[in-house]
Parts: sequence; C-alpha cells; structure tokens
Amino acid sequence: MIQKTLTGETIKSTLIHQWKTKRKIDTVYEECPNCCREVKFEIFEEAEEFDAKTGEPHWDMGVFVHGEAECKCGACLLIADDMESFKIYWLNEKKMIGGNES
Ligand SMILES: [Zn+2]
Repeated sequence: MIQKTLTGETIKSTLIHQWKTKRKIDTVYEECPNCCREVKFEIFEEAEEFDAKTGEPHWDMGVFVHGEAECKCGACLLIADDMESFKIYWLNEKKMIGGNES
C-alpha cells in the first residue's frame, strides 16, 4: 500500500530509516557573558563514529557534546565540552560589541 503525506509525498516506509546522530543529555543554566542573565542550554551529544555496516552511531566513542542558545539580549551562545570542562562561547560577540554598525 502506498501512503501519501499531507504534502503529497509518497512514503516509502522501507526507506525511512533515520539514525539518530544527536541526543539530548542535559539541560543547564549558564550566565550570558553579555548581560549576565541566566540562559537555558539544552545539551546534546553528537556521535562522530558510526558502525560501517548498520550506520548506528557509536555513543561510547568520541562524541561531541554541545548546546546552543540565544539570550534575550541577542547573544548567540554555544556551550561546548573541551574535554576538561564546559565553556561558553559567545558566537556573535564581534558583531554585538565590536563594530558600530547599526
Ligand atoms: Zn544576554
């Protein structure tokens, strides 16, 4: 039987095989480096190694642990594990405080 989605795409159920490469592991609150408000980060880990045969992610080998959030002040923040501790990176710092462009 052929099913169709609302957008008219045909679902080929045997082809739908989504491997999860990312999973949520935690929620943390950290201070925004710009305005000192608490920002909520959802922390994900992302697999970097996959089983060659099944495509299943290897969660026990090298995973990238990170989370992204945007503060109310407009700062785009990235929290990432640098193997020792979590660090906050302010991605648009230059744009927000560096220049005078309006
Ligand atoms: Zn902020």
